[in-house]
Amino acid sequence: MLSFSPIAPVLSARGLGSRICCQQMRLLHMPKIVVNGIVVYLVICNCEAPLQPPADLAKGENMQPTEPTNDGTTDVTTTANVPGALPQAATYLMDMDGVLVRGSQLVPGADEFIARLRAQGKPFLILTNNSLYTPRDLQARLARIGLHVGERELFTSALATAQFLHTQQPNGSAYVIGEAGLTTALHDIGYTLTDSRPDYVVLGETLSYSFVRLTQAVRLVLEGARFIATNPDVIGPSEGGLAPATGAVAALVAEATGVKPYFVGKPNPLMMRAALRQLKAHSETSIMIGDRMDTDIVGGTEAGMATILVLTGVTSREQVNRFPYRPTAVVESVAQITI
Ligand SMILES: [Mg+2]
Repeated sequence: MLSFSPIAPVLSARGLGSRICCQQMRLLHMPKIVVNGIVVYLVICNCEAPLQPPADLAKGENMQPTEPTNDGTTDVTTTANVPGALPQAATYLMDMDGVLVRGSQLVPGADEFIARLRAQGKPFLILTNNSLYTPRDLQARLARIGLHVGERELFTSALATAQFLHTQQPNGSAYVIGEAGLTTALHDIGYTLTDSRPDYVVLGETLSYSFVRLTQAVRLVLEGARFIATNPDVIGPSEGGLAPATGAVAALVAEATGVKPYFVGKPNPLMMRAALRQLKAHSETSIMIGDRMDTDIVGGTEAGMATILVLTGVTSREQVNRFPYRPTAVVESVAQITI
């Protein structure tokens, strides 16, 4: 049950508000007020247990001051002790585009960041809303630009969609508009792909939308098939420039049928939870790293994780204040995140 803890137990020391938590470590918001020049963080949690400082703070250890920024987030670029400024994480989820890669270029330092995670033995998953490719395809594409990761370290919206359908209706059937990334994921969980009386119409990213197949999708939805789409992105990068994405094509089917799809990919926290489940990790000890406030950060927040916004992608520092939610920290790039 969601409840709000009293605001009395607050930390008044500068920066310490970013470390205080309830016993369940499920911070949802961290508004602050300034009293006589002292920053006071108001901690709202979804735990009925009284607020208590983490053990290291109670013992007075590792109390590194941080510099709260104008937007209320912790700017870890201003402190030498990043682990002291952020919740300690056992597991890391990170977006791919805009975080590790930018187009066909590696973000400088992204490979070293992955190496640091490996050296520390921290499990991680690289997330992408793009459902075009299988993890093996993505692994090869990343290797070509110098980022070497395993297939099992990549998690696409197609995989999240397949896992979702498996939990909803094991061994069901689907009419699919998509590429190998999606069809392989559905085959792998035991789904039958059919154009006759499917349980679901599943729409994903594709390079060649066919009006004939869209017409079939519309008819099947009108006949009662449930409508699922891998991700809500309406536009995205392609080899020759921007191209309409799954969300835009889903809108066509939705307008024609009057049936809205269920989007599985980010910002749906379902995708983050599925990724955490794959790692056998818990949101309370995990961090989501992303470049977009409206997908990565909101999804990570709703999944109960601490979040880090990197400025190498879509969202700029100036845009952060426009959103009603905030990342736990803002950094210039993954290169600045120490484990
Ligand atoms: Mg991104």
